[in-house]
Amino acid sequence: MLSPGLEKVLAQDRPTPYLALDPQVVRQRYRELAAAFGDAQILYAVKACPEPAVLRALVGEGAGFDVASQQEITLCLAAGADPRTLQHGNPVRGPGAAARAAADGVRRFVTDSAEDVDALTAEAPGARVQVRLSVDDTGSATPFHGKFGALPGEAVALLRRAAQRDLEPVGVTFHAGSQQTRPGTYAAAVAVALETAGRAGLARPELDLGGGWPVAYRSPVAGPAEFAAAVRDAVDGAAAAGHVDGADLLLEPGRALAGPAGVLRSSVLRVSRRPGIDHRRWVYLDVGRYQGLAETEGEAIGYPLRVPGRAGRPAPAVLAGPTCDGDDVIYRRTPVALPADLAAGDLVDLLHTGAYTSSYASVGFNGFGPLDVVVADEA
Ligand SMILES: *Cc1c(COP(=O)(O)O)cnc(C)c1O
Repeated sequence: MLSPGLEKVLAQDRPTPYLALDPQVVRQRYRELAAAFGDAQILYAVKACPEPAVLRALVGEGAGFDVASQQEITLCLAAGADPRTLQHGNPVRGPGAAARAAADGVRRFVTDSAEDVDALTAEAPGARVQVRLSVDDTGSATPFHGKFGALPGEAVALLRRAAQRDLEPVGVTFHAGSQQTRPGTYAAAVAVALETAGRAGLARPELDLGGGWPVAYRSPVAGPAEFAAAVRDAVDGAAAAGHVDGADLLLEPGRALAGPAGVLRSSVLRVSRRPGIDHRRWVYLDVGRYQGLAETEGEAIGYPLRVPGRAGRPAPAVLAGPTCDGDDVIYRRTPVALPADLAAGDLVDLLHTGAYTSSYASVGFNGFGPLDVVVADEA
């Protein structure tokens, strides 16, 4: 079930915790998504897992990159990416950020406010601009709560504003919320986005579908083909309605490419009975919220678990991290069943942890260091 590369890393004896990461899995996931979406351009969202080996593998596959900071641009260029394949997707750019990106050869920017359009006009004249829409992200495990994106009327105004300035408005984008499990949410967003682009006079816009593509953590999810079919139908619908002639698709997957490529190997520090407090055992690991499990906040993401060295009958447990922070509890509501004979020193693997883990780990809260990454090809 795990890739040969991950099995090889995990077969070696090394101190926990660490993230085993296999760029071959990222490649495979890239190919599956690319095949489902035909000639769409795929821009990997670097924040999901900025590991150089992952970026190099994706450069090799012909991917572009969705970047949000100068540091991410630098990482991509160091991995061999052509700056013209980079898109600066973070509309919250401080003064000078667009100019620095442009000086590195980045020509593509996402915007969502008049203030940012004006900043781009000054700092990256002539840049290609997509306007981000705020869309319904029902079905996402980690919604944006309106942090980004303009409503359709404002988006039309922004596309026109960009055209009046010295910018090239090329299309529209959205993010349907990460771990978005519903193809219908993408379809609805595509309909809004293409109607908006048409109103702004773009006959064949770029349609950047953003990220959100889900990983089958504890339950199966729709595959790339189902999402692609829903998107295709929505594009055809917009064309049939006369909003646009068609659209050139882009995707910005992060989680879907990197998630399945990682296994976080941890050790049990303690198994405690808590008389009068909880009928369940509390199992404390050497990883928690601050060593890469940030997405367990609110128990948004439920990683599958396995215990390689024990075969005891599964019994319920609360899973917690090692630090003295009361929020450093991994799963309290999410059902966790671990072998009844689990003991301090046992290994516990958290599966599908390649995305949004190593990059989220703190530098040393309570003295617990950042998460080590062991890359399969290089192990
Ligand atoms: C984070 C992000 C992505 C990737 O999202 P996933 O849910 O990991 O696929 C894509 N585009 C933008 C603009 C993002 O901020």
